[in-house]
Amino acid sequence: MAKELFAIFGNPVSHSKSPLMHNLAFQGLSYDACYTRYLLENGSTLKETFSNLKLKGVNVTVPHKEAAFNACDFLDPFAQKIGVVNTIIEKEGKLYGYNTDAPGFLKAISEFKEVKTVLFLGAGGTAQSTSRILRDEGYEITLLNRSAPRLEKYKKEGFRTYTFDDFVPSTYDLVINMTSAGLEDESLPAPQAILNRVIPSSKACVDVIYGKETPFLKLAKTYDKPTKDGSDMLLYQGIIAFEYFTQSHYTFESIKSYMQKAFIL
Ligand code: NDP
Repeated sequence: MAKELFAIFGNPVSHSKSPLMHNLAFQGLSYDACYTRYLLENGSTLKETFSNLKLKGVNVTVPHKEAAFNACDFLDPFAQKIGVVNTIIEKEGKLYGYNTDAPGFLKAISEFKEVKTVLFLGAGGTAQSTSRILRDEGYEITLLNRSAPRLEKYKKEGFRTYTFDDFVPSTYDLVINMTSAGLEDESLPAPQAILNRVIPSSKACVDVIYGKETPFLKLAKTYDKPTKDGSDMLLYQGIIAFEYFTQSHYTFESIKSYMQKAFIL
């Protein structure tokens, strides 16, 4: 059998850890495949690019997760429901789409026990998949976003939503930064006065940003809260994607043992 080729499509894509993560696992598990990165500028060319490069599968990152959804011939039920795809595999010329960000995130926060109420700071693409899976699992989700437009669709689906201006604080077991605030700057995801209301009564604070301690997590630590960054989410979505790529040939733990080395290299 010819070597299988996988890639990550994104724009930008040069920063992505996915090639290292997947190549470590392919190598460690002696699976004959290679994973590269591809700067995809136009999402509408996703399908033809996939075909031209003779790929077996891809991960898709910002800003093409909705284009990936549209490019697939078949969608798994959860991807169908949320309209966002980050993993595609090819089988007999057809593209099958999945979302592994959401189950990856769910697994990442499973270490926090006795959690029922969750406050999402932000309502962008990442919140779109993760809010749905958490709600399906029985968590009560409230979304607090800087501006109103992105909240409309959540409101229609029955989520409790607020902007900074109309926020009525309550008690939340988990407070999660789902924004890009703090990624390339030192900003907080919400006004500090709001964070000072919700963090003290929380059980833990989580950030989806990885690779740095954000101002949000720094603030949470001043209240002695357990914190967690986005590294496990990234690792777990990668492991679940790898399971799709290799048709569940390996156990989660065996993939993890190799893939997690990407975080110490
Ligand atoms: P989007 O661009 O879709 O959404 C951005 C969200 O952040 C919006 O709700 C926006 O509010 C809000 N926001 C941006 N800047 C600020 C700010 N300065 N203050 C307050 N709110 C702000 O982004 P994504 O959902 O795709 O990504 C969000 C984060 O998730 C990124 O940091 C990304 O790196 C991270 N991520 C991590 C992953 C992992 O595996 N760990 C996987 C995927 C993403 P508004 O609507 O008002 O503009």
